[in-house]
Amino acid sequence: MRYLSTRGGMAPSAFSEILLGGLAPDGGLVVPQAYPQVEPGTLAQWRSLSYPALAFEILSLYATDIPAQDLRRLVFAAYTEETFGSPDITPLRPLEEGLSLLALSNGPTLAFKDVAMQMLGQLFEYALAQRNEALNILGATSGDTGSAAEYAMRGKRGVRVVMLSPSGRMSPFQQAQMFSLKDPNIVNVAVQGVFDDCQDMVKAISNDLQFKARWKIGTVNSINWARVVAQVVYYFKGYFAATSDNEQRVSFAVPSGNFGNVLAGHIARMMGLPIARLVVATNENNVLDEFFRTGRYRVRKSSQTFETSSPSMDISKASNFERFVFDLMQRDGDRVKALWQQVEQTGEFDLSSDPLWARMPEFGLVSGTSTHANRLATIRAAHEKYGAVIDPHTADGVYVAQQYREPGVPMIVLETALPVKFASTIREALGIEPPRPPAFEGIEALGKRYVWMPASVPMLRELIERRCA
Ligand SMILES: *Cc1c(COP(=O)(O)O)cnc(C)c1O
Repeated sequence: MRYLSTRGGMAPSAFSEILLGGLAPDGGLVVPQAYPQVEPGTLAQWRSLSYPALAFEILSLYATDIPAQDLRRLVFAAYTEETFGSPDITPLRPLEEGLSLLALSNGPTLAFKDVAMQMLGQLFEYALAQRNEALNILGATSGDTGSAAEYAMRGKRGVRVVMLSPSGRMSPFQQAQMFSLKDPNIVNVAVQGVFDDCQDMVKAISNDLQFKARWKIGTVNSINWARVVAQVVYYFKGYFAATSDNEQRVSFAVPSGNFGNVLAGHIARMMGLPIARLVVATNENNVLDEFFRTGRYRVRKSSQTFETSSPSMDISKASNFERFVFDLMQRDGDRVKALWQQVEQTGEFDLSSDPLWARMPEFGLVSGTSTHANRLATIRAAHEKYGAVIDPHTADGVYVAQQYREPGVPMIVLETALPVKFASTIREALGIEPPRPPAFEGIEALGKRYVWMPASVPMLRELIERRCA
């Protein structure tokens, strides 16, 4: 398998060449040259596999330059009952006839990002050891991504994480998850400012190419291809759990922000998994819903990006979306390049009168938006009808899923976080404290390890020079 850029400007590259990188050199996103096709016979064989065995089969199709016995070892190290709380890794939880949750949030940080990030931790450690290299991952987080990265990379040889977060702006639970880590390769930086200040500091460092190379600085953001492909696995797992034979179809509803999670569903469908619909559920930041309804992609300014009660979906543009548009444009890199040039110049593009827009139904993608009031009502209804406490992001998914249920097609909603991470919204909806897994009792009281600094790039530079040598 070789990888190309969505904008057509990258020589075909191997998986291990693109694994540690971010954007393609031409500013596009890395994509496989073709989606491997899963024949019905293969699908039948995969049905009875354990999660890690299935993950190995799927990753083998994409990571073709990692020797099979090495890849198998890495996959089995990532997906253990110890890390994910059950041998199923992502168990299916029925809510009622034809509606269930795919539980993706039982990893170390209680959000779905662990599923891909745990695999990435194994792959990074392996690839760096092979090359005898080291990497300093620099990032900014407002919650789920940063902690998932830290828990995936803690104790890994050759990797260090420097993670910036806005001081006092994460939930106490999220902050405790990150700041209680004692591993020497994890450096938490609490910045006096908001998330955008943290991101600007990371950008300033990343734009200084000399400094970046000198201190071996990299990232693990949501456009990383290995993260996307690791997420493909649970669509297969969820399909097998919800069906008894491969003639059946299912639909998935996916709480979406940067379009990483649902992109993995699109890829599973392109590989031949019998998916009827992929329901893109957004909150008030409905860039994606607008596109799938109208053909118009319109990025928002920071001032037009709302702070909502499903904060991990508060995005102004959807960074993985370009990979889907590449497929919609029949993999024409020049077209994609022109579209994103247009986004840069005017902030938008409109495909509604393009002949290819007429082919959208072939992709099964539909969408909807929820509001804070919808989420509260959905959390209450799920509690009353099913006795389930769901988090506000999952509630976005359940709310929009209801609009697209069809008789005879099971609807699977991806549960993207556990409610304990977003306790204040649960209190508002239900008047109770969300259930807390026993391992997380009292984490807010644990000792905290972090460096505090003002939003100062020179101070961040100095910290990197001191801690990343
Ligand atoms: C990151 C995240 C999302 C959005 O996922 P994308 O892949 O960015 O679309 C949804 N819910 C939760 C809880 C998240 O952490």
